Amino acid sequence: MERPIDPEWVWKATLGELELALQRPVFENWLKDTRFVAYEDGVYIIAVKNSFSQEWLNQRLKSTIKRRLARLSGRTVDVNFIVRPEKVSMPVPSAPDSPLLTIANDTVQAGRFHSPSSFDDANLQRNRTFANFIVGDGNRFAYAACQAVAQNPGASYNPLFIYGGVGLGKTHLLHAIGNATAEEGYIVRYVTSETFTNEMIESIRTHTNVAFRQTYRNVDVLLIDDIQFLQGKESTQNEFFHTFNSLTAANKQVVIASDRPLHLLTKLEDRLLSRFGGGLTVDLAPPDLEHRIAILHAKAYEKGMVVPEDVIRYIAEHFPNNVRELQGALNRVTAYAQLHQQPLTIALAQKILEPQQVPMDHSPEAILEAVAKEFNITVSELKGPRRTRRISVPRQVAMYLMRDVAQLSFPQIGEFLGGRDHTTVMHGVTKVEKNLQSDPVIRERLERVRARLKQ
Ligand code: ADP
Ligand code: MG
Repeated sequence: MERPIDPEWVWKATLGELELALQRPVFENWLKDTRFVAYEDGVYIIAVKNSFSQEWLNQRLKSTIKRRLARLSGRTVDVNFIVRPEKVSMPVPSAPDSPLLTIANDTVQAGRFHSPSSFDDANLQRNRTFANFIVGDGNRFAYAACQAVAQNPGASYNPLFIYGGVGLGKTHLLHAIGNATAEEGYIVRYVTSETFTNEMIESIRTHTNVAFRQTYRNVDVLLIDDIQFLQGKESTQNEFFHTFNSLTAANKQVVIASDRPLHLLTKLEDRLLSRFGGGLTVDLAPPDLEHRIAILHAKAYEKGMVVPEDVIRYIAEHFPNNVRELQGALNRVTAYAQLHQQPLTIALAQKILEPQQVPMDHSPEAILEAVAKEFNITVSELKGPRRTRRISVPRQVAMYLMRDVAQLSFPQIGEFLGGRDHTTVMHGVTKVEKNLQSDPVIRERLERVRARLKQ
């Protein structure tokens, strides 16, 4: 019989291969800290540090890893990632002789162990927490990443870059991280990029820029909201770049929220973009129906209101875009019912909410038809093989709308468009997103298609 190969060695060798094959941040975020635990019956048991890593590895790397393990061990194998947090440790304050922290050290130490003061200048909204953030498919990943960051600021994913459309919970998650870490005694600061800009300008005017710098460089967790407003502001970008570097160099956590993905922050300096992309990027997608219903239940409960199930469903069905609208609709209906002492019924909800919204046809078929009409081609041309500009541009618009309006996955969209590959679809959607920034004609055509969908 052949001598069995040592499975721990196989795991190490696989890691070695992956380190070479993958981009560095990917390896460092997801694989570097994994540990071989056991090998049983062709199954490698590997420990990872949290459930977020576990999910990520299962989704994105499992098959690659299995393939490499199989080749090295000479048989088919499986791999099972289990969560085994390492010993939980407070991040070590940077060495006292680190040049950056010589001024700051006292404050850092003092702040970290006196929780009451942690909230003083943090600008946190205390009522936005992890506990009252409702998790669904569209935000599960982002939520888990934020929790991982809050449990171990500066040590897991740095920076964490969160993007998503308006009203999907970016600001809520920043505050949730802030509240959780301030609770632990970390020095936290939440700020929008606009406030950061204003404070900087003010500090120059009043000759207090040293203090301004110190404030920001003293924090353990910096939460920057709406980074898109930093676009085009060069001197602020410069200041922010230095703040960012000092913090991350000292293993302090930076979390950034943006209403668009990195590649669409076209007016940010490249050096900032590359720093932002150096950690982990997560996105928030609009909630699906089930998720919207769960959110409405939670909000009604928070307000101590009993809202009938059919009214909840009515609101959830009519406000599909984001949580802010959803919440607004619930507030209007409940406020009206209370004020006029009327029972909360569907009829009442309709009466109050109807004038404000025109339903849109979300079906993929309707989208294809509306796009075909707008561009004067046929649906079968959209689905067909031709790739001339006359057909490919509308096809990409259809891809974009199927994502944006119908919220289909890339592979699903590919199916609808005559069996195209999901990478082709991804490319198409990105292209339209880019064009929308610069091309008013395409913006207008898209608006017209949307209007058709509302008829
Ligand atoms: P964004 O910053 O992405 O525009 P916000 O974080 O301000 O969105 O969210 C809008 C509103 O919806 C806030 O009141 C927030 O508390 C609430 N909200 C968003 N997502 C959720 C969620 N998943 N669970 C509970 N409330 C949410
Ligand atoms: Mg916000």
